Amino acid sequence: MITRSVATVDSLTWQEQLATSIRDPKQLLNMLGLDTSLLDGALNAHEDFPLRVPLPYLQRIAKGDPNDPLLRQVLPLGSELLAAPGYSDDPLDEQNSNPVPGLVHKYHGRVLLIVSPNCAINCRYCFRRHFPYQGNKPGRSEWQHALDYIANDSSIREVIYSGGDPLATSDKQLQWLTEQVASIKHVQRLRVHTRLPIVIPNRITDSCLQWLTSTRLIPSMVIHSNHPNELDKEVANALYRLKRAGVTLLNQTVLLSGINDTLSALQQLSERLFEVGVLPYYLHQLDRINGAAHFEVTDLRAKQLIAELTAALPGYLVPKLVREIPSANSKVLIL
Ligand code: SF4
Repeated sequence: MITRSVATVDSLTWQEQLATSIRDPKQLLNMLGLDTSLLDGALNAHEDFPLRVPLPYLQRIAKGDPNDPLLRQVLPLGSELLAAPGYSDDPLDEQNSNPVPGLVHKYHGRVLLIVSPNCAINCRYCFRRHFPYQGNKPGRSEWQHALDYIANDSSIREVIYSGGDPLATSDKQLQWLTEQVASIKHVQRLRVHTRLPIVIPNRITDSCLQWLTSTRLIPSMVIHSNHPNELDKEVANALYRLKRAGVTLLNQTVLLSGINDTLSALQQLSERLFEVGVLPYYLHQLDRINGAAHFEVTDLRAKQLIAELTAALPGYLVPKLVREIPSANSKVLIL
């Protein structure tokens, strides 16, 4: 598997690409020609939150560079295990907004369904790296509680598929769930929050486009790209397919120290996103999840970056700088 050519990897189905992800830190370091001094820390942090990198994403990481911006998003580091003040396992207090299994209701007018507990990639800064997915994995019969909750609240106009990554589940399951949601008359919009088009672009299959665009619900997709190097030709093709099918595409980025905290990285990201049919939407300040403190960028620096971006780009390419605060009734703009 290590020696698979790019052409071979690209010809695999998305399920095969998911199944052949790299999960062993030693294998990852070997494949990228990296110093084995990183191994002990990687193994320790991997125990806490496992390594997972699919091959299409791995192909975009430069060999021999421990500071590659894509590698840094996925490589476990020993420093993740150091306690940091203000960091916790549930920084957004989501467990208090989880009225029935599989559903999170934080903001007026929309609810989030935890469609899949799985991800195609494990991002080291993930705010749900400690989320209790075991209690939030409804099967078809249990989804009824979440569907009843939505049906009983006519203020809910939008349903958001989240996870994990909702596209890690099968199109058959997503088709069924979308039909159930669409049968609730007051729901108008369906939003899918996913990183799969970035990490395994083959995921955008004909059957995926089918359930997403054959519903009466107005579809949008919020992808999650943090760096322009993530947006290669295969990703661009997947995004064009979605756009051509009528899906509104938006991007959210997490601001990450050493990865995208420069004007150049953010400007190139916005420009590349627009080129592939996606509007920059949010630039998130990091959620203070245990294990991610080394990625934090100060608000002062974040605001400087937005000022620099505003001077360099038209307004529609400048994402909103936001933070999530538990109990706030929307994301909070950082001005
Ligand atoms: S894809 Fe999203 S939910 Fe999954 S690990 Fe990355 S940030 Fe977390």
